[in-house]
Amino acid sequence: MERTFRIGPIRPPSEAESLLLQVTNGCTWNKCKFCQLYRHTKFKAYSADSIKADIDNMVYQAQKVEKYRNSNGTWDIDGLNRALMEGTDEERQCLYMMANWIIDGAENVFLQDGNTTALSSGRLTDVLIYLRQAFPTIKRITSYGRAENLAKVSPEEFAELKAAGLDRIHSGFESGSDAVLKKINKGVTQQEEITAGKNVKAGGIELSIYFMPGIGGYELSEDNALGTAHVVNEVDPDFLRIRTAAVKPGTELYDDFMSGSFTLCSDDEKLLELRTVIDKAKGVDTRLVSDHIINLLQDVEGSLKNEKDKMLDIIDQYLAMPDKDRRMYQAARRMVRVSKPADMLRLSAEELHRLEIMAESVIDPYEWEVKMNSLISRYI
Ligand code: SF4
Repeated sequence: MERTFRIGPIRPPSEAESLLLQVTNGCTWNKCKFCQLYRHTKFKAYSADSIKADIDNMVYQAQKVEKYRNSNGTWDIDGLNRALMEGTDEERQCLYMMANWIIDGAENVFLQDGNTTALSSGRLTDVLIYLRQAFPTIKRITSYGRAENLAKVSPEEFAELKAAGLDRIHSGFESGSDAVLKKINKGVTQQEEITAGKNVKAGGIELSIYFMPGIGGYELSEDNALGTAHVVNEVDPDFLRIRTAAVKPGTELYDDFMSGSFTLCSDDEKLLELRTVIDKAKGVDTRLVSDHIINLLQDVEGSLKNEKDKMLDIIDQYLAMPDKDRRMYQAARRMVRVSKPADMLRLSAEELHRLEIMAESVIDPYEWEVKMNSLISRYI
């Protein structure tokens, strides 16, 4: 009998090394205009028994991995590689994930998919306790949750989830502006975000929220920045993760862009949104994190309490660059050649020449943004 477990498609970049435990499949909402992740997946919340059966199979796979641990703590990698060539694709995939996790110390787990908190608190608590008992080495368990659902969970219920072992919730707020949330059909209001964020934090669980500069388009650029700054100041999240907006073919937002009802922001306008959010932060103990290739300036990150000036300086220095240099940098960044302007000095004269030709080949500023959007939309 196959002893495998389900593995869903999505996890945050910060959970790249985590064990993935799928407790739901798909998303309860599935209607955000920029997202097509689960469009063909009907949402399903698994029963506690079904999730526990997966955890039992994880334990079985972990025991298989442990057979290759030498008495001095090193690993018989050749033996493990041979084991990884046996069985079905699914068995190999499960063993591979478990081997990586165990060898890395078996510390972090991410509960999938798009909205784990759609599960009742009781069922989630039951699963968390079972998981912690199965793997006592676990240090951190995290999950995704939609603000709409999080807002309905009381601080007391979050405290119970924390006691059972849930440490952090990631939530894609995307924007704090009601106008933007409506435009992208997020199905959540600013007030729900604030209630959700406050309840999560009051329950003692870490909160990581996502902000998308540019997701309201040119028309709502200022709204996007000011609304998000307001939510950040109200909620004081532990992490504010930046996901610069890109409009991807196949999404409803792309249809809006093609029909002219959504105007792309330029890279500079998106940076100005980020600048406003940083500048307006008041006393929050939030860490701004830039952990995705779609962000233009990778090193704009740090504490909103102690490193505001450093982050604002990086943005201002970039914005003060001549137009052609900014375009050349944007193109190089979108081709994953650089992560900050200083990296341009490492490029060869030949490469710089090609970037220069590219930067000068497009006269119309909006045509340039369309070109940059087509480059970054490959990464989402
Ligand atoms: S809530 Fe998240 S997963 Fe669901 S449609 Fe929106 S962005 Fe996609």
